[in-house]
Amino acid sequence: MAAAASSPLSPESAAYRNALETVAAVEPRIADAIRSELADQRESLKLIASENYASPATLLAMGNWLSDKYAEGVIGRRFYAGCRNVDTVESIAAEHAKELFGAEHAYVQPHSGIDANLVAFWAVLAQRVEGPALEKAQVRHLNNLSEADWFTLRRELGNQRMLGMSLDAGGHLTHGFRPNISGKMFDQRSYGTDRETGLLDYDAVREAAREFRPLILVAGYSAYPRKVNFRIMREIADEVGATLMVDMAHFAGLVAGKVFTGDFDPVPHAQIVTTTTHKSLRGPRGGMVLCQQDLAEYVDKGCPMVLGGPLSHAMAAKAVAFAEARQPDFQAYAQRIVDNAKALAEGLMRRGAKVVTDGTDNHLVLIDVSSYGVTGRHAESALLDSGIVTNRNSVPRDPNGAWYTSGIRIGAPALTTRGLGTAEMDEVARLIHTVLAETKPAPGPDGKPSKARYALEDKVASDVARQASELLANFPLYPTVDLG
Ligand code: PLP
Repeated sequence: MAAAASSPLSPESAAYRNALETVAAVEPRIADAIRSELADQRESLKLIASENYASPATLLAMGNWLSDKYAEGVIGRRFYAGCRNVDTVESIAAEHAKELFGAEHAYVQPHSGIDANLVAFWAVLAQRVEGPALEKAQVRHLNNLSEADWFTLRRELGNQRMLGMSLDAGGHLTHGFRPNISGKMFDQRSYGTDRETGLLDYDAVREAAREFRPLILVAGYSAYPRKVNFRIMREIADEVGATLMVDMAHFAGLVAGKVFTGDFDPVPHAQIVTTTTHKSLRGPRGGMVLCQQDLAEYVDKGCPMVLGGPLSHAMAAKAVAFAEARQPDFQAYAQRIVDNAKALAEGLMRRGAKVVTDGTDNHLVLIDVSSYGVTGRHAESALLDSGIVTNRNSVPRDPNGAWYTSGIRIGAPALTTRGLGTAEMDEVARLIHTVLAETKPAPGPDGKPSKARYALEDKVASDVARQASELLANFPLYPTVDLG
């Protein structure tokens, strides 16, 4: 009998060691960067609300020869020969997505969330706008249009309108923000949140919809810390003849995990739902569109209408991640995300931080750092110096604009995946508060307080970084992956 050597290598460790050796033989710097990224992620307290850690199975499903195949078209009807395996992959991903979300139709090709939104916009236009203008619009090179061209295109499409949440209230730039293509394709208006409470005011949305009469009413957000009642949003859309589109990119994991149900589950209420697959849903980078059957034929034209060939390897990874999300333990995971976000918000508020809407009922918390006398930019940099990765974000009616901002957005999905619970979130809140309370604006070259420069004692930053690292040591990231 062979003597028992040191503990056997896990399948994941063996897979990654072999893969990196193969990469290193061609370009060692890339293998090094991949190794270094794992080390960085293991060491930092990741609080970026839109990030997560996909499982090794999901990650491994992406690194293979499915990437080599062109498969423009839809399942069973491709513009390329030899797509039987891609058909299998795409069918399985779409089936899992439909089951997971209870959707009538799933289109899993979009390469990202923005692509998913573009597919949705054009699908609604194609369904609702008659005449040849649309085809004419589609053959234009959308990237190369001047302002005048956009004006003409919008007019040819009948000046269709989009009403979405404003960027500073937490909406996404694809929800009609002027510099984004959505704000150029559509005549656009936005709704905000209540000045006192910071909450979505459905009566104000209804009033704006009645006045503006949009073709598309967009609901969904990147930085709104509360649930949205999609039943009410659909009533508003129906009243004015709009299509309700929900972008659930941020909270798809909470829908999949049955934390958001009934009025707060967008799928039974919206005609079309878009999402990313890599945020709270914990899948690979990518996007997806879910829709009711009457929109399916238009959505399925995403490629070649606005997308190139599908990323078959990413669709394979989506299928794996959706299969994981259909397991019962995903529901417990989704609930833990919300519990952790609430614990973060409470821990911060107890220490005196100002939190937009005084709490959260989803996965994210928006801290108004102006009460600490700093900008979002100061806070983001000082926290990063202290081993805490966050991102600066506008708060409603932000006096510092979208570049410097007055807010910090933090989210619980990644740390929840690592296994941290509510007790650890209170400790994380303490560390964040310590850094923010010790950070001061520093003078710029003109001697005036700068919105970017800041002062934080090295000792404070290094003490917090050490405490963050001690906290994380109890929750190893990718514990089955040992790169040696
Ligand atoms: N929609 C929302 C609500 C988002 O928050 C984001 C990304 O942050 C996107 C769409 C775009 O996703 P992607 O970066 O995958 O294009």
